[in-house]
Amino acid sequence: MDKFPLTFAIIKPHVVSNPVAFQRLQSIISDNKFEVIRSKQVKLTEPILAEFYGEHRDKFFYNRLITFMRSGETQALILHKIDAITSWRNLMGPTKVFKTLYSHPESLRGQFGLSDTRNACHGSDSVASVEKEVKIFFPDFNIHDWCTTSEFQAKQNRSR
Ligand code: GDP
Repeated sequence: MDKFPLTFAIIKPHVVSNPVAFQRLQSIISDNKFEVIRSKQVKLTEPILAEFYGEHRDKFFYNRLITFMRSGETQALILHKIDAITSWRNLMGPTKVFKTLYSHPESLRGQFGLSDTRNACHGSDSVASVEKEVKIFFPDFNIHDWCTTSEFQAKQNRSR
């Protein structure tokens, strides 16, 4: 389902701890017609991060990623937009900030990223990832039930 209408995002600690950057990034989210469906500030723990970043356990950057993600509050978001997964990943820009600063300076990572680890934000890369990640962060939110609500229908109509 490549036009999936929801995605899961995280704003990383160095942005959340900088009120000006955090406010600006949230304005960009709404200027780009994403609607925030759920939002909460979370201080991530090692077990949650181990589950969340399990696929990267053997990578050279894993320890520094986990240490950074535990270093302060993060903002977890469920976002609505038509084709939300692709739209959010396009808005974020590529993973590696040291290149992105030159290739995609207008992207979120181009504007707010500080390094390849501190790259400002996360976005699910597939419907399966949205389902898995929403379950970790918002266990009471049922994506498929929500997509049958009148709230969902109204948002779909607004974003067409
Ligand atoms: P994403 O989906 O664009 O976030 O990228 P990945 O799933 O591949 O990586 C998860 C996170 O690990 C990224 O957002 C970065 O914070 C970090 N990361 C990925 N690749 C590198 C790297 O080469 N160096 C460093 N320092 N961190 C990386």
